[in-house]
Amino acid sequence: MKKNLITRLNEGPVLCAEGYLFAMERRGYLQAGSFVPEVVLEHPEVVSQLHREFIRAGSDVIQAFTYYGHREKLRIIGKEHLLEPLQKNALQIAKDSRQEFKDLDLMVCGDLANTNVYDPSEKKSNIECQKMFEEQVAWAKEAGVDFVIAETITWLEEMKIALKVIKEAGLTAVCNFSIKRNNKTRDDYTPGDACKILEDNGADVVGLNCFRGPKMTMKLLPEIREKVSCHVAALPVPYRTTEKDPGFLNQTDEGCDCIPGGNAFPVALDNKYCNRFEMAEFAKECLDKKINFIGICCGAEPHHVREMAVALGRKPISYKYYPDMSKHYAHGTDSTLKNLNTKVAKEL
Ligand SMILES: [Zn+2]
Repeated sequence: MKKNLITRLNEGPVLCAEGYLFAMERRGYLQAGSFVPEVVLEHPEVVSQLHREFIRAGSDVIQAFTYYGHREKLRIIGKEHLLEPLQKNALQIAKDSRQEFKDLDLMVCGDLANTNVYDPSEKKSNIECQKMFEEQVAWAKEAGVDFVIAETITWLEEMKIALKVIKEAGLTAVCNFSIKRNNKTRDDYTPGDACKILEDNGADVVGLNCFRGPKMTMKLLPEIREKVSCHVAALPVPYRTTEKDPGFLNQTDEGCDCIPGGNAFPVALDNKYCNRFEMAEFAKECLDKKINFIGICCGAEPHHVREMAVALGRKPISYKYYPDMSKHYAHGTDSTLKNLNTKVAKEL
């Protein structure tokens, strides 16, 4: 009998690699700005390959690439008619990827994101949100996902609608907020208070994803851990965001004066990038703080994921190629290496 997400989390951490939008944009299959995952229809093989790489790196979860493939996002690029095929294709690609790795106990999840139509001053926007969530959850349920993540939502009230829709479909719900500069949801709740309300409303896992790098995400986690008794999730972006600019949506790069408009978000964040070891440290700190659903959002690449898996005590498939500098021609220590080269290592 396959274990469900909660059983898995009761036994130990679950690793979840996501943030496909950025990975696809860098590879040239998706446009920054609108950030709509058209690649799911245009180049499904590229999506499969990304899933494959994250699985090989140790992700326990394959997130169907439905993120930002919702009705409002498709409307803005004039392709609402692609909504259903896009959603269904993304779910099928994720399931096919699981089939490729039958020996691994992988979970497939559906995804809900900020609708961008929610407006607390307009009651009817609640209904619009609910409808958008309902159609997506119905397709995810039909595809037989193991659970659904609602994420990068900044309003508690919008998240409550997503949660209600997921629970009414009888599915397990992971609810991850993205928290802005002032450390609160847009409706002014602390992350801990907002997560506690979600837990009381039936959320199975609550936490944070996106917006913030590992340090600025970690800063908000203790309050959540203290206020809820369910499992907690943390999936930062792999960028060195700071107290001054905690979110990656507004970043300056002092070392560069040619970024159009001056904001390094979203396509010039390279100099702010976290290396794999920084992400591994984040994973270890999560373990210490009893944060069990651990992952990485926009900007994630497989090398980060593998190092996080290793930090959690695992040897994923791509561990086969884990760095071994002992065999490097200059920096190495292997006895067969030429002294001619090793003795100048520091001078190179
Ligand atoms: Zn993200």
